[in-house]
Amino acid sequence: MPFTGSCLCGACTYEYSGDAGPGIACHCTSCRRYTGGLASFNLGVEAAKHKWTKKDGLASYLDTCDKGEGPRRWFCSKCGSPLATTLEYDPKPMFLKAGALDDLDGVMPEISVHLFYPSAARATAKGWDFAGQTLLKGMPGSEQVSAK
Ligand SMILES: [Zn+2]
Repeated sequence: MPFTGSCLCGACTYEYSGDAGPGIACHCTSCRRYTGGLASFNLGVEAAKHKWTKKDGLASYLDTCDKGEGPRRWFCSKCGSPLATTLEYDPKPMFLKAGALDDLDGVMPEISVHLFYPSAARATAKGWDFAGQTLLKGMPGSEQVSAK
């Protein structure tokens, strides 16, 4: 089902032509600082099916991660909204920031994957039922860990 997303001020918009992938929370320090939240909530999609429809303020920041190669963080330079993350070492996936989806309830699935789970803040981990979810030590493809 195709869907759209946009930043806070409307200078950046996108459309996606494929199906929504998994709901992914990332608990790494970079994501916390970048989003200002205790975790970053994302929708996994295929980069090839994503298209920026308005990119007046679109900018990116090359971050580092546990692989030492950057996730590229896409955001609106006018309003500061985080919009998406792509991986420099793997061009196929894209991680859309859940908060930028236009139809949040219609598109965003339940969170089923947690990246950098060992770094989850106590404030997040305590109120969250992690049962049946995939808890990873780091980025996608890293070792699975058990709930705290
Ligand atoms: Zn904006």
